[in-house]
Amino acid sequence: MNEQDLWQAALNEIELQLSRANFVTWFKNTYIASKKGGVVHVAVPNAFSKEWLENKYNKYIFKALRDRDGEVKEIKYVIENKKPLVQTAKAQEYKHRDSEETQLQFEELQVDKETNLNPKYTFESFVVGPSNELAHAAAISVAKKPGLVYNPLFVYGGVGLGKTHLLQAVGNRLASKDKGVVYLSSERFTSEFISAIQNHGIESFKDKYRKINVLIIDDIQFIAGKEQTQEEFFHTFNALHEQNKQIILSSDRPPKAIPTLEERLRSRFEGGMLVDIGYPDYETRVAILKTKIKDKNVSLDKEVINHIATSVQRNIRELEGALNLVIASSKLNNNEMDLERAKKILSHLNHRPAKPITHKKLFQVVSNFYEIKEKELLGKNRKREIVVPRQVAMFLMRKEMKSSYPSIGQRFGGKDHTTVIHACEKIEKEMRENNDFEQELGFIKQQLYSD
Ligand code: ADP
Ligand code: MG
Repeated sequence: MNEQDLWQAALNEIELQLSRANFVTWFKNTYIASKKGGVVHVAVPNAFSKEWLENKYNKYIFKALRDRDGEVKEIKYVIENKKPLVQTAKAQEYKHRDSEETQLQFEELQVDKETNLNPKYTFESFVVGPSNELAHAAAISVAKKPGLVYNPLFVYGGVGLGKTHLLQAVGNRLASKDKGVVYLSSERFTSEFISAIQNHGIESFKDKYRKINVLIIDDIQFIAGKEQTQEEFFHTFNALHEQNKQIILSSDRPPKAIPTLEERLRSRFEGGMLVDIGYPDYETRVAILKTKIKDKNVSLDKEVINHIATSVQRNIRELEGALNLVIASSKLNNNEMDLERAKKILSHLNHRPAKPITHKKLFQVVSNFYEIKEKELLGKNRKREIVVPRQVAMFLMRKEMKSSYPSIGQRFGGKDHTTVIHACEKIEKEMRENNDFEQELGFIKQQLYSD
């Protein structure tokens, strides 16, 4: 048996022992990279999968390989981003999706080292509708005449409505003309500032940020309450503004609604152009879905698209998440998807208020999905394969059950509320950065809302 056949045979067996979602999540894009002297190197696409296979599925994998090849003594996992040479039958089913995801990862890798911009956020891929046309028009003007029309440009609006996309679109357009553009989050600005203080690098910090031509800071609201950082940012702001260097900021709310923002910064922010992004209307949501569907090179019935657009109304990131879930499910079913199926898949989005979730159900679903014991989920074990599910459970209690941070902490053996906040932030970050993980949470939520 050659390596490919061996792996395929092993996967066929492993698949029978896991839920479909788990199998897909952890085993796609895996293959045998080499086999020598009884040591099998299994290639996995990323560190997250590596850890997971090592810690959780190693015994299944070992047994499945050993049963077929008596020579196998040990398994090692290596991270390789190459495509499998021969795809297993299952993998072939996901072939299309895999290539999309590889491309996504590729794009993420492409985040420019100097500007921190992600090239996928462009004006071309930004759908304009009544909810964002003003912000879009202002962004276009700034991209045409940086530093001269609106300075600063301050874009605000709720989560997942396109602020980052729009800010980066300006950045990408200007960077293509070589304009000394830098994009960063206010948290990153803060942490660079703090480490500059610690490492006596404050002069070079000042120097760096005062030489920039276009400074884009995302989620500026997080600077609130950090006095020294605000002070430093105030001076950076003034230095750039005096030289007609463009400053672009985003926030989840207007300056006057950011508590503990220093008055002088507030008035600077309000001295330029303030534009908000609102909730997209139905037509815009449909247009966005159609754009994404085209990008992904798939097709969906009109009524399915309309149903997705009706199901998610207040967050474009979630709208995309719902679309991804429908597409993934259609791949699992030979590319078939009709309205009934789509409704079922997205039922968790619609029936939210009708059926409150209980703690019991939530703990059950999460521990089932990750195949750990409920006791472990609620316990104190710090192993990663327990910690991640625990953080997921905390996150879902917050998001789906609207529990308070302290009460969540209590459920998990009296943890401090800051630990819970940290957990929720981590999960949100991971979801933003990792498509697979987002999908995984989609599957979990679906189970949460099904009977
Ligand atoms: P925010 O920064 O406001 O939280 P993002 O800019 O990260 O939101 O947008 C969330 C997701 O929705 C991104 O994938 C983005 O590309 C997409 N998106 C938002 N607005 C639009 C739009 N008008 N057209 C196309 N995609 C959009
Ligand atoms: Mg953002």
